[in-house]
Amino acid sequence: AAKEAGKGKYMIFDPSFLQAFNERVQLEKYLRQGLQNEEFLLYYQPQLSLKTGRIIGFESLIRWNSPELGFVSPLTFIKVAEDSRLIIPIGDWVILQACMFAKRLQDQGHGHYKIAVNISVIQLIQDNFVDKVMESLEITGLEPELLELEITESTIVESFDQLIPNLSFLRSKGIQIALDDFGTGYSSLGYLKQMPITTLKIDKTFIEHVPNDDDNRSLARAIVLIGRKMGLKVVAEGVETARQMQYVKRAKCDVIQGYLISKPLPEKEAIRLIRSNPVYDIGGKTSALQHP
Ligand code: C2E
Ligand code: MG
Ligand code: MG
Ligand code: MG
Repeated sequence: AAKEAGKGKYMIFDPSFLQAFNERVQLEKYLRQGLQNEEFLLYYQPQLSLKTGRIIGFESLIRWNSPELGFVSPLTFIKVAEDSRLIIPIGDWVILQACMFAKRLQDQGHGHYKIAVNISVIQLIQDNFVDKVMESLEITGLEPELLELEITESTIVESFDQLIPNLSFLRSKGIQIALDDFGTGYSSLGYLKQMPITTLKIDKTFIEHVPNDDDNRSLARAIVLIGRKMGLKVVAEGVETARQMQYVKRAKCDVIQGYLISKPLPEKEAIRLIRSNPVYDIGGKTSALQHP
């Protein structure tokens, strides 16, 4: 051990840095393979209207089952995909798959559901991004109003000027635009007003901190208010308890998403869920959520 420590003094590279670097290179290689070998798939998490108690749409969430690594969380690989620009072909694939899913629901007679798709800024600033989105809509025949692109608030602020033309164009075509993880990105209200967005998604950290009493000074409530004042639809993500649902409902939040309703589901299970045509009990103050 003493010898090791002595050696360490003269090392140029921190071995843990080198290891992290190698892991990244490996991960990138596997991602590239994964794309070729179709190792990705989409899961769909239902979104519930707090007005009707019905499921009105889904958020698509990518999953990767790598033969070498097993299931890898998007929290791990999206960053690497962005840095290597692999997020562009991966993201193109996601958009088309998500549109196909929503259209399939219609074609199979399940109804018209909105589909939300997470978009990285790397994708959004490409010149041909809007063409590719429009192409996915044309190929599938999905109504643009049923497609919602989610962009995280923290990244939108960094490249604001570059993003606005593409966002405005997509918005002008009827596509919905959501600001994801809202409340974590420090965008000023001035910025918010200039953005061509339709939806605010309150980050789940604020829902976690929904107070146990009826404290109306909570940040969650303030954020819903901001959204409503700006005429936006407000979605609460990460709703896990009936109490949290009641709280955001009283704050006049429009839509909830979270484990209380369902975790993200593979397509078959998502279809099974909507086929049962569930109406959730979002009523009275004390009522717990009742699954049909
Ligand atoms: P996000 O867009 O904010 O998605 C919500 C995350 O919260 C998802 O994690 C979801 O599974 C999780 N979640 C949902 N309900 C609950 C709940 O009640 N409690 C808790 N604790 N968590 C809940 P997931 O699927 O691991 O995705 C993580 C992030 O990876 C996403 O955050 C999104 O930023 C990114 N991501 C996922 N799919 C894609 C994709 O296709 N493209 C891009 N660019 N990013 C993606
Ligand atoms: Mg999202
Ligand atoms: Mg989110
Ligand atoms: Mg989030």
